[in-house]
Amino acid sequence: MSDVIIIGAGPAGLAGAIACAEHGLHVTVLDEFIKPGGRLLGQLHQEPSGEWWNGIQEAERLFNKASNLAVDIRCGVSVFDLEKRDQLWHVHTNSGTFKARFVLVATGAAEYPIPIPGWTLPGVMSIGAAQVMTNVHRVQVGKKGVIIGANILAFAILNELQLAGINVERIILPEKSPLSGKAADPEEVLKSLLHAAHLAPSAMLRFGSRFMKQDWMRKLVINFFPGGGMKINGTPLQLRKAALEIIGEEQVEGVRVADIDAAGAVIPGTETVYEADFVCIAGGLYPLAELAAVAGCPFHYVPELGGHVPAHSETMETPLEGLFVAGNITGIESGKIAMAQGTTAGLSIVKHSGKAPGSIEQKLGQAVQNIVHVRQHAAIQFNPEIENGRNKMKQHWEQQVKTNSLSSEKIG
Ligand SMILES: Cc1cc2nc3c(=O)[nH]c(=O)nc-3n(C[C@H](O)[C@H](O)[C@H](O)COP(=O)(O)OP(=O)(O)OC[C@H]3O[C@@H](n4cnc5c(N)ncnc54)[C@H](O)[C@@H]3O)c2cc1C
Repeated sequence: MSDVIIIGAGPAGLAGAIACAEHGLHVTVLDEFIKPGGRLLGQLHQEPSGEWWNGIQEAERLFNKASNLAVDIRCGVSVFDLEKRDQLWHVHTNSGTFKARFVLVATGAAEYPIPIPGWTLPGVMSIGAAQVMTNVHRVQVGKKGVIIGANILAFAILNELQLAGINVERIILPEKSPLSGKAADPEEVLKSLLHAAHLAPSAMLRFGSRFMKQDWMRKLVINFFPGGGMKINGTPLQLRKAALEIIGEEQVEGVRVADIDAAGAVIPGTETVYEADFVCIAGGLYPLAELAAVAGCPFHYVPELGGHVPAHSETMETPLEGLFVAGNITGIESGKIAMAQGTTAGLSIVKHSGKAPGSIEQKLGQAVQNIVHVRQHAAIQFNPEIENGRNKMKQHWEQQVKTNSLSSEKIG
């Protein structure tokens, strides 16, 4: 029997496995995908320093390191339930039940869908699916595409599609509806993109973005935003166009669009059709946290982290004894941060297991500091208010610890 079961072989899970195994714990990693690496497998981008982030190589490095430490990594294993009985966690999967004293849930993130009429046509996919088809399965998703939804993930993947020689003709917004929310509001979209402006491909865009931090300036830019869009890496970003419907007989043939005003309302009589043979919908990411919920972990709603997130401490423990979380399940951030969190969770498990008692506190403290450091230097940040979100979770945790100690004093 393993000491630790890790659910998810992404950067958080593999880094957690390495930290545990380096301190003598027996670790099993379970992942439902065909190979380890999680979302790293789709990632390829150039950092502001000029260095390339090659997710496939990073996944191989982590996999080899974990394998050399005798971590048992099992792919094609899907976890559907998690419960504690007789002091052990029981992890139920399609390959039977695994038991261990400690469980690290590192299941990552999922994409928000934005329903649009015609979105069931062949050739329509989420932006993440386009990334997986292109970079993992090496399948060309189409020849002439439109991305609906303008967010950091869409731009990261636009770049990857371009590197693969796939032509994305334009990026437009979804139509305003209760389901599309802020993604359909041109000013909100511009605001969120400005936080990533340091990554803009041209010096002029980077320079221009500094002037748009003021509300009045942003409003001015949105009001006079060119109908043909502004080019990002050669692809026009059209913040004043919204997708009304994806059209086609047997498969995608185009997108029916209309002009929108600065608040996102459709301007009647402006409809036109953009031809396309594939469409990607980019709705953003949220933590994939169902397994923590079925285990009975309490949650907090923290929009800055991506939505409902399992309660956890800075050292990645949850209020449930023996249950830990790391990576995007705790809030949407990039791969390097997931790795730093995985290492922290692994060291936290080592501490609770009683292994390496002398040095572990210091290592754990350094690992927590390292998360902050990596976050400060992150090339990709999905939510500009992430630090705010992390502080909110820290306050929730401290409040919980205070309440618990008060009630145990009363009982005593
Ligand atoms: C579609 C998409 C695209 C992204 N693109 C980028 C990008 O380009 N750049 C970037 O920096 N970040 C990107 N991210 C963010 C990305 O999630 C982080 O960079 C990082 O991969 C998070 O690491 P993680 O270990 O938390 O989760 P992941 O890397 O997502 O790994 C989680 C693993 O858990 C497994 N899993 C989930 N549920 C179960 C279950 N029930 N049973 C068994 N296994 C399970 C999954 O198969 C997966 O392998 C993307 C995220 C998504 C969802």
